[in-house]
Amino acid sequence: MAATAGIINILKANDHVLCIDDVYGGTQRYFRQVCSATMQLTFDFMDFSNTEKLKSMINEKTKLVWMETPTNPTLKVTDIAAVSAAVHSVRKDIIVVVDNTFMSPYLQNPLVHGADIVLHSVTKYIGGHSDVLMGCLAVNDESLYQRLKFIQNGMGGVPSPFEAYMALRGLKTLHVRMDCAMKNAMAIATYLEAHPKIEKVIYPGLKSHPQHDIATKQASGYGGMITFFIKGGLTGAGNFLRSLELWTLAESLGAVESLAECPAVMTHASVPAEKRAELGITDNLIRLSVGIEHIDDLLADIENALSKS
Ligand SMILES: *Cc1c(COP(=O)(O)O)cnc(C)c1O
Repeated sequence: MAATAGIINILKANDHVLCIDDVYGGTQRYFRQVCSATMQLTFDFMDFSNTEKLKSMINEKTKLVWMETPTNPTLKVTDIAAVSAAVHSVRKDIIVVVDNTFMSPYLQNPLVHGADIVLHSVTKYIGGHSDVLMGCLAVNDESLYQRLKFIQNGMGGVPSPFEAYMALRGLKTLHVRMDCAMKNAMAIATYLEAHPKIEKVIYPGLKSHPQHDIATKQASGYGGMITFFIKGGLTGAGNFLRSLELWTLAESLGAVESLAECPAVMTHASVPAEKRAELGITDNLIRLSVGIEHIDDLLADIENALSKS
């Protein structure tokens, strides 16, 4: 969030930001409830799949376009190259930001596709062990780098040496952890998709994912996050989550341990209820962050919890 605040501090009062609609809950809260009031920035939240519509929302005050792909928790995939080209065709100086936390730099490199700034919550896959809080930004433009560096120093949102040490330790195994989590995720998504107690599974690696082709084109893998809709509403979801033994009921994601949560009452509880409904974040939606435990253990635990849901 300090890295996010660093980017926002590039802007001036009355500037306009276009943001993808199902953005990370904390980013949404910061934009809607902090920046709008204290910095007099204006925000529009919208779906980015139609680039003509996106272009029509850009005005002379628009300075920043903020996207995330896949999104959280509905795992909607957006074409980074198409969005970057569309925005820059209107004005070159509009900064396109991609929050790349879900994919990690191992699987997806938005700068290559035309984005201007890439943000990572290092807390997630890069750290990888749920023991670091940190963020980072990547740019490929020297003057933008200098502006961000100046703001970072001026605001003081910097990591401590110990956090940097922990992040470097985590980074050394990023590729090993990611490969394992992804393999587990594919097996779990496939299992869930065939299960009678599941309404629907969303995983970019499944052929049934509506943007499977875009995901395949712009990333070298599909990540370790799965979303699914369980039958039986909030009660079904609650029973399932309470019955898990190996999976931990918790927010956060991207670590070696597998986590499960219910966004409607946890990570996305601060998103207004009508907005949640619009985005499809229903009470029976469960989000999994797949870790690197043995696949048989992960599946056995899910099977048991489903039998009790
Ligand atoms: C967790 C997360 C953040 C915020 O990161 P912190 O390290 O918790 O400040 C931002 N974006 C996404 C997609 C995240 O998952």
